[in-house]
Amino acid sequence: MELSSVKRFTYIVNTTLLLIVIGLLTFFYIIKVKFLILFSIPTILVYIVGYVLIHKDLLAVYVRLVYFWITLYMCVTTVCLGYGYGFHLYCLSLIPTIFVTEYISYKIDNRKIRALPFSLVIAAVYLISTGYVAYFGSIYDRDQKTAAFFWIFNALTVFGFIIFYSAFLISSIIKSEEKLTEAAHVDRLTGLYNRHYMLKCLERLSSGSNKSAIIAMSDIDNFKKINDTYGHNGGDEVLRVISEKMRTVCKGCTVARWGGEEFLILSTEPMNGGKEMLENLRKSVASEPVSFEGKEISVTLTIGVAVRGGGQSIDEWIQAADSKLYTGKNTGKNKVVE
Ligand code: GH3
Ligand code: MG
Ligand code: MG
Repeated sequence: MELSSVKRFTYIVNTTLLLIVIGLLTFFYIIKVKFLILFSIPTILVYIVGYVLIHKDLLAVYVRLVYFWITLYMCVTTVCLGYGYGFHLYCLSLIPTIFVTEYISYKIDNRKIRALPFSLVIAAVYLISTGYVAYFGSIYDRDQKTAAFFWIFNALTVFGFIIFYSAFLISSIIKSEEKLTEAAHVDRLTGLYNRHYMLKCLERLSSGSNKSAIIAMSDIDNFKKINDTYGHNGGDEVLRVISEKMRTVCKGCTVARWGGEEFLILSTEPMNGGKEMLENLRKSVASEPVSFEGKEISVTLTIGVAVRGGGQSIDEWIQAADSKLYTGKNTGKNKVVE
């Protein structure tokens, strides 16, 4: 979550609140409740100041001011008109919104908002204002029809806020979890899956019924020399380019960076081409040097292939591919060994 998008969101909320207050001011004017008409003036000023605070990135100050004022507004309107008008309902929408605000403040790394104390104050003000009205009655007395009209307007607004904020919270959490899961599965340098994710795929596969899967352990030849000759950045560029090539050539397979310059390719579909696809990969890597800072780096791959054997554990399966790779390394490199 970016500060700029949080600011945009806050501008929208501030404008919505301002429009609601102006709408309510019109109703107060129609039903001639002078005190609430006057009280609407500082309320409107609060939202105008709100624009300035958002503009100056003072979001925590904005939140405190607006929550304080909404609570006060709710209290004053309830005491003036009684709870038949539904102003006390705003407390209910304030609770989820303040928790969303705490979440957003955590996401933008400014942990200045704590929802719990705010919520307790709001609950206390709710009890005091409705308790006062229940005991002493409201200051103004208005007819039932007006009260019903306000009740519907306020209840709809409150439900709107509760639904909107709850939906916003849950979709933000889901998005954030998806990003975390993705980050936990992907290798940062190459963008390929990491070893952890590949192990999960292999475990899932071993519990299924697929019998035609193959894995290919691929290792860049003489990579240490590439690092020594072109530096670590040159080596990194080779890893990135080769990874991209694997992704393109081995379409439909799961490709993971298994270790430093080792990659594990998992093909679950025989029509992916098996050995032919791996031979194409080897040829493509060997025939197209990697460009780095105006130099051409020749790269070759040795690949050990193992078809999944019946009753084989995942470790044994990987071990089989590894030993084919070892054979390839000891017999001249730049080859696919089945
Ligand atoms: P062989 O042909 O037998 O595979 O020899 P090799 O030189 O490729 O293998 P070796 O295991 O001796 O060297 C691998 C090197 O890979 C050692 C390590 O410094 C380097 N390496 C591991 N991870 C990275 C990385 O993320 N970036 C770079 N640039 N180098 C890495
Ligand atoms: Mg190597
Ligand atoms: Mg190696």
